[in-house]
Amino acid sequence: MVRKVKRFQYNFSELHKYAVQVGKPMKELTEEEREPFLLGPLPFNYSCLHLTKKDKCFICGKETGWLDKRHGIYICDKECLTLADSRYEAGEDFNRHPICKGL
Ligand SMILES: [Zn+2]
Repeated sequence: MVRKVKRFQYNFSELHKYAVQVGKPMKELTEEEREPFLLGPLPFNYSCLHLTKKDKCFICGKETGWLDKRHGIYICDKECLTLADSRYEAGEDFNRHPICKGL
């Protein structure tokens, strides 16, 4: 199975209107359906939660308050996030932070 991490930013209010129109939950929309609402790559601070409790970056070990929502791991910056994505795509599963369970 090929796993590909996609981090894109969408115009959510328009995407939501479209989802209502076609009668589907937003997360069930296909990539083709989402494409017209694509704004660009998702900025790092949108990919992550900023926590007051800091921990070590999963990749480089630097202390950080950013927790990636997708993988549920602490990540200090965009470069480390890209590395985490490629490790995930290569088949690695991360031990998700409890705060991210169910996100
Ligand atoms: Zn890092």
